[in-house]
Amino acid sequence: MPLRLKFITSAKRYTDLPDSPAEVAFVGRSNVGKSSLINALANQRQLARVSNTPGRTQLINLFELPNGGTLVDLPGYGYAAVPGREKAGWQRMIEDYLLEREALDLVMVLVDGEIGPTKLDLQMLDWLRQSGVPHTVVATKLDKVKPSKLATRKKELARAAGLDTGDVMWVSAAKGTGIDALAAHVIGLLSS
Ligand code: GDP
Repeated sequence: MPLRLKFITSAKRYTDLPDSPAEVAFVGRSNVGKSSLINALANQRQLARVSNTPGRTQLINLFELPNGGTLVDLPGYGYAAVPGREKAGWQRMIEDYLLEREALDLVMVLVDGEIGPTKLDLQMLDWLRQSGVPHTVVATKLDKVKPSKLATRKKELARAAGLDTGDVMWVSAAKGTGIDALAAHVIGLLSS
């Protein structure tokens, strides 16, 4: 069943977000497939912007479910063409949100399943671990992994992320694989 997500607001700072009873946040490197995944979860084409110009979505986007729970789409990190100062402000905005947002229950860190965790992904995972922010890993673009490589890739990616193989959720927004399971997981988190 799709998530009935309604776009509420975009904000520059977490302090500008409305209160929420429970929140799940999606974070990941630019181009990891985050917008495609949110659109697939909602079964809507244009809810989150899918773009081939990574780094353009630089605001915190907040969506609401019918029960009042919220889903947050954080700006993609690691877009090299962003000038230094802007990049730093941007990073602070994400970090402040992750450290200070009271409603935040779980961060879903998206990792590209085709290429595995990048240095920036590993930095983010380390930082979340050290900061004690509850998080999990979702591997995207499952359809791009050759079936013959899949078992090995699943093990490698989980090991790199410091997780058990079964603890990484795999999805393909393009094919719809794993989308219902992830949507059910999000609903479970936001209903408790
Ligand atoms: P974002 O920058 O993280 O929001 O990434 P996008 O959702 O804009 O996706 C980046 C690129 O990856 C786009 O060209 C998408 O079409 C492509 N993409 C996203 N998800 C998938 C997927 O599940 N499978 C495949 N094959 N391509 C995907």
